[in-house]
Amino acid sequence: MNEFNKSQDTHLWYTEYHTPNSGITLKVKETLLRVKSPFQELVILDTYEYGRMMLLDGLVMLTDRDEFIYHEMITHIPVNINPSVKKALIIGGGDCGTLRELSRYSFIENVKMVEIDEEVVKASRKFFPQLASNLPKNAEIVIGDGIDFVEKTDDVFDLIIIDSTDPIGPAEGLFTDSFYSNCRRILSEEGMMVLQAESPYFHAESIKIFSDRLRRIFGFIRPYLAFIPVYPSGMWEFIICSKNELDVSLKKADLISHFESSLKYYNHDVHKGAFMLPTFVKNIYGI
Ligand code: SAM
Repeated sequence: MNEFNKSQDTHLWYTEYHTPNSGITLKVKETLLRVKSPFQELVILDTYEYGRMMLLDGLVMLTDRDEFIYHEMITHIPVNINPSVKKALIIGGGDCGTLRELSRYSFIENVKMVEIDEEVVKASRKFFPQLASNLPKNAEIVIGDGIDFVEKTDDVFDLIIIDSTDPIGPAEGLFTDSFYSNCRRILSEEGMMVLQAESPYFHAESIKIFSDRLRRIFGFIRPYLAFIPVYPSGMWEFIICSKNELDVSLKKADLISHFESSLKYYNHDVHKGAFMLPTFVKNIYGI
């Protein structure tokens, strides 16, 4: 579906198709990396509009210019709802952006990231130093399959972040009953899991299927939204899951005060607004 096109101006253009008839097209300065790992094809392009961009199997993972939105929103929303996180687990997230955001909270004692593809971590260290350099000492990077990890571990986590690719290829099993049940098993009683949940505009049917699954397994879920320009439709969804009724309000007003000026998307207004859903999104959940 995705292909490299030569335009009339002889520049390389990259198109990711979001439907058979629409997509996003970016003019490319240079191809910086193209490798085939045992799991997927990894490409790093330098683009005019968005800076460096990481693609996995032809799908945009992140760009220099808008990665902050995804990484701030997948991290600061759950931590500000439950500021008693001591142990956190990231599944996927090999670019290390989620790790970078979690490391802002000194009260989180231990963060483990389980990423299946070492090439993603290596490429991020080289081409996206703002994400993957200066990682904290309490961050442990495990190269392995997240599905396997949650099945075998007996550790318990207060926060689990599923920072995965979409439900195709190595990430397919990250959207299943058995994976979610294992995540629930290793979640502390007051803990929360959060996952990236595709675009409600384009992927309503699959969101309906896996959000029903999440509600059945965890008991309580709350979707929230962010604007991410390079992702399909620009409207992106995240889902928080908990074993208890979810109160998504901010619990401590000063939690982000010492680094708030360096955030570019998340703030207290955005925290509240992210849970205000348009009618077509509410309809996916029957709320
Ligand atoms: N922000 C991104 C997005 O939604 O487009 C996700 C970024 S992150 C690069 C996704 C990571 O999940 C990839 O590095 C991929 O290798 C990893 N991944 C996919 N399946 C996995 C699995 N089964 N276990 C662990 N990591 C996995």
